[in-house]
Amino acid sequence: MTLRPLVPALLTILLAAPLAAAPAPQPVTPEARAFAVGAMKVAALRDGEFLIPNDGKTFGVDAGVPAVAALLGAAGAPTDTIRVSVTALLVTLPGRVVVLDTGLGPAIGKLIPSLAAAGVAPAAVTDVLITHGHGDHIGGLVAADGTPAFPNAKVRMSAAEWTSIQATPGSAKIVAAITPQVVVFAPGDEVVPGITAIPERGHTPGHVAYELKSGRARLLDIGDTAHSTIVSLTKPDWVMGFDSDPAAGKATRRAELARLAASHELIFAPHFPYPGVGKVAAKGDGYVWVPTAL
Ligand SMILES: [Zn+2]
Repeated sequence: MTLRPLVPALLTILLAAPLAAAPAPQPVTPEARAFAVGAMKVAALRDGEFLIPNDGKTFGVDAGVPAVAALLGAAGAPTDTIRVSVTALLVTLPGRVVVLDTGLGPAIGKLIPSLAAAGVAPAAVTDVLITHGHGDHIGGLVAADGTPAFPNAKVRMSAAEWTSIQATPGSAKIVAAITPQVVVFAPGDEVVPGITAIPERGHTPGHVAYELKSGRARLLDIGDTAHSTIVSLTKPDWVMGFDSDPAAGKATRRAELARLAASHELIFAPHFPYPGVGKVAAKGDGYVWVPTAL
């Protein structure tokens, strides 16, 4: 089965109205849920939510629609769509205000009002860390008038991802707006004090996770290593249509979930049900989500 070209961005897909079964945005209320990682003040910023059709093009591409439907049904979820949250992270450090990913953008997303709910103005943000260049992660880098949404921030991403975004025609307006702000890094770098970029191969050319470290406390923002608590965790080996390299994507997902289940490390997953903070535990040949109450 061929994969439809799902790049450059989910936002592009969302705006591609002629598609019969495009992901459908759902209304959400702006919200910021605060918690701590050691001495770091962190908040999950609610941006949006959408329903992805179970049509064999995104989840379980190699498994087929009936198998995905059976898995969803067994979890008590609707069998015709997969519900996916979009959440960003706010981290407050001495002298730094850091936002990890920027959601869908002002036409759909609620990042800026959620940031306001956390008491932070966009102009106060010093660093924006991008996991990868899909539209549900970089859409919020520009305001409704096309100017940078975080005018005083450095926008940090891996060099490979910036190269990829610059080569994506659908991202041209965002590229033009943010180019003076962009600072690239190599995966493995400590990007700001206490936050290290971890390479996660397969989703996009330069996709990274971010590990927050404060004393003995840890939190891993897994980016798009996994999208659905039902499908991605129960069947990590199923092909994900948004992965640019599906074989690498599933190998990364399988290895990272095994490591996280063994380490009991706290994670943040932008697409898991809001606020997306919790742990993964091994179950049979797959994994289950153990959300943390915030
Ligand atoms: Zn995403």
